[in-house]
Amino acid sequence: MTTLIMKFGGTSVGNADAIGQVADIVLGYTRKVDRLVVVVSAMSGVTDALIRGALAAASGDEQAYRAIVNDLRAGHYRAVKALLDPGGEQAPLLTTVDNYLDEFSAFCHSVHILGEVTPRAMDAITSLGERISARILAALLRQRGVHSQALDATELIITDNTFQNAAPLTDVTRTRVSARLNPLLDEGVIPVVTGFIGATEQGVTTTLGRGGSDYSAAILGDCLDADEVWIWTDVDGVMTADPRLVPDARVIPVLSYSEVGELAYFGAKVLHPKTILPIIERNIPLWVKNTFNPSYPGTRITREPEAANGQVKAVTAIQGLSMVTVEGRGMIGVPGIAARTFAAVASQGASVLMISQASSEQSICFVIPTKTAAPVIRAIEEEMALELVRRDIDRVWALDDVVIVTAVGSGMRGTPGIAACIFGALGRANINVIAIAQGSSECSISVVVAANDAVNAVRQLHKEVIANG
Ligand code: ADP
Ligand code: ASP
Ligand code: MG
Repeated sequence: MTTLIMKFGGTSVGNADAIGQVADIVLGYTRKVDRLVVVVSAMSGVTDALIRGALAAASGDEQAYRAIVNDLRAGHYRAVKALLDPGGEQAPLLTTVDNYLDEFSAFCHSVHILGEVTPRAMDAITSLGERISARILAALLRQRGVHSQALDATELIITDNTFQNAAPLTDVTRTRVSARLNPLLDEGVIPVVTGFIGATEQGVTTTLGRGGSDYSAAILGDCLDADEVWIWTDVDGVMTADPRLVPDARVIPVLSYSEVGELAYFGAKVLHPKTILPIIERNIPLWVKNTFNPSYPGTRITREPEAANGQVKAVTAIQGLSMVTVEGRGMIGVPGIAARTFAAVASQGASVLMISQASSEQSICFVIPTKTAAPVIRAIEEEMALELVRRDIDRVWALDDVVIVTAVGSGMRGTPGIAACIFGALGRANINVIAIAQGSSECSISVVVAANDAVNAVRQLHKEVIANG
């Protein structure tokens, strides 16, 4: 008995033609797979629009959020009218779209009155895009003659209450998923589940973070003990670099979980960084495939990569970062400075992407998203107030406008000279390296460079270390 999870991203359901293509793909597999679960994102641009609407409402701009409601209505209406027969489910689906957009409008109205949008309200608002797209696709599948039912993941994926970045509670989620989905699958129904969203145990809507539909698919894959999880997107697979930055980037046929984990963590948007977490233990293969080129095999991600040919497989960049430095000669030999520094960072909810400390102990450097830099510096200054007065610590400061560029490939392990190639390539392009870190898995090397060197650094590394490597 084969169980397959197929997730379709925003562009894959971005308009009527794309949704039609998704239905073709799903129908094509109904005969080949015993149990098929579909996960969908919101139509492309919809989550962004919902966020813009909520922010406009919070800032008092009623006209702007009303315009967004109208745009969203027009976009969804166009898709529904093009896809669904007027004599069939078209009318009820248009009503469904209206109901969700009325809900959006009502949320925006409340946000407008309150003058602020809380993370909890933002989750309720941003969940609407997936609720609508799942219903459109399920109706289209029914029209094409298969049993299909749209399901809100609020019934399935139970999370903590970290709104906008919720973590699933594994045991309850597993129980809910099998209780709710197994009977449907046994009856041959194809569930179309909303990606991205979940709910607390009290039933309050949460989201798993931007791009989280990939993670939703992997969570369901784990809970249903699926044979494979397939991520359908708008490129042929995971590529050697972001194709928008590097036009000659190539598809990588096979990657390991740890390689893809590093790539996603360091900015490759093609997969949400948490996607591999639920499936790694059960060794469930993950595929990345192109909705618009479905016969292309795509990228296969499993535990062990095939013998690495070439050492660096991909290069990626993560933008919008600041490098914070805590420095002072008096830090040498004082126990606990690092622990207190990172406790202060954690108190601000900031995630640290990279750390480097020289053995002289005169400074600790770490890289965090720029939007968290100011509160993090304040928190460290408060924590180290005494050390600052004593001049054991001279200053805590941030260098803004930096990016992390990362070269990934498990073949780097035990291959001497890779670092030299990377720094040689950057040096020849006159790119100044601000800081360096190597993952302990030895499957990635990261460098911090100025933001305006980022594109050049990625292209240069791709050219010298991957394409000619
Ligand atoms: P979806 O809506 O299907 O989830 P995303 O936009 O989230 O799609 O992710 C796919 C996009 O990720 C691609 O269109 C591509 O521009 C971008 N991308 C960035 N880095 C990579 C990479 N290394 N390989 C493939 N795509 C990448
Ligand atoms: N629609 C959500 C987003 O835009 C989730 C996803 O696309 O994976 O972030
Ligand atoms: Mg995505």
